[in-house]
Amino acid sequence: MSPRELLMIPGPVEYEPEVLQALGGQSASHMGPRFVATFGRALKGLREIFGSARGQPMVVAGSGTLAMELAVANLVEPGDAALVVNTGYFSERMGAVLERHGARVVHVRAAPGEAPSAEDVATALAAERFKLVAITHVDTSTGVLAPVEPIARRAAELGVLTVVDGVCSVGGEALPLDAWAVDVAVTASQKALGVPPGLALACVGERALAAHRARRAPVASYFCDWANWLPIFQGYERGEPAYFATPPVNLVDALERSVAQILEEGLERRVERHRRMAMAMRAGWRALRLEALPRSDAVAAHTLSALYFPAGIDASLVARVRDEGVVIAGGLLPALKGRYFRVGHMGAVRPGDVLTTVGAVGRALARMGARVDPAEGVAAAQRALAD
Ligand SMILES: *Cc1c(COP(=O)(O)O)cnc(C)c1O
Repeated sequence: MSPRELLMIPGPVEYEPEVLQALGGQSASHMGPRFVATFGRALKGLREIFGSARGQPMVVAGSGTLAMELAVANLVEPGDAALVVNTGYFSERMGAVLERHGARVVHVRAAPGEAPSAEDVATALAAERFKLVAITHVDTSTGVLAPVEPIARRAAELGVLTVVDGVCSVGGEALPLDAWAVDVAVTASQKALGVPPGLALACVGERALAAHRARRAPVASYFCDWANWLPIFQGYERGEPAYFATPPVNLVDALERSVAQILEEGLERRVERHRRMAMAMRAGWRALRLEALPRSDAVAAHTLSALYFPAGIDASLVARVRDEGVVIAGGLLPALKGRYFRVGHMGAVRPGDVLTTVGAVGRALARMGARVDPAEGVAAAQRALAD
């Protein structure tokens, strides 16, 4: 039997037992009353999680990358200009998806570990007529949290749509679409929403739906076209089955459970729990003398940590931490790939996971010869949790 490991990567994450149980049952008929009710509840709950009173939640089989394309394919027409607020690997990917659908892309960049300021983005927005601005809320390659709210508000004033890649934030960071004037947010099941991989999710606000209706060019992807999906989601929410493409029924069953748990915990409390776990992690990392990739706490995400390997320690740290019972991830940003590692702390993450993880990283560092005291790391995290 392989030993139990704690999965602390930035998705997939550890899941609640009730969510996993929902996944393991017999598949329901996607047209039957049991599943219709389940899917309807999941969609209504998602609308609340996205904080969008009249937006349309979407749930499609796929991953976060498909969710990004589900937004872009419907909004961009060849020749449209798009601004990308670039904070790392996933912002680059968003730029590539936009270009593939015919957009002319302008990037506003910052040094690794920093986010472009809202002022820099406002200046770029004023320079020409953009169709949309794309923001990676938390770039999972850098652990950088972007200032979504001021950018989205400015964009709304200019009549520019805001599309947020919330794959590493929805369910862990605050991202209320209506309150922040965000038009579209996308995510995936396996991160802070706490459902195994396999679902692409989005919430599309009224202005974005209107932009889709006003298109001149047809949507280039048949599978992604909102026109095919809208009657489906509207139908299930009304309690009527509808068919376009077979939904991943077991994953939707699991999603419905997790959405119910999220709303039961309360969004605000859930975001606050993520913040507290992140603070405890940071206290532990500081005591272990690890330097964070985000240059300041103001731009540091609460759903993961990105940390430089200390002097004399290489990427084999990741395997040594696994020997201590915790699975963490290596770097992802090409420019810094071999120089840092990442620890996810989202979804079901609890105080015990923080202490276990800081302890495992500390022991692995000490065994590799770093001059750190693993007990100090755990004690610092413990003090932060007790505050
Ligand atoms: C994980 C992630 C993606 C990609 O999601 P996949 O499910 O791997 O396709 C996109 N953006 C962000 C911010 C992510 O964290």
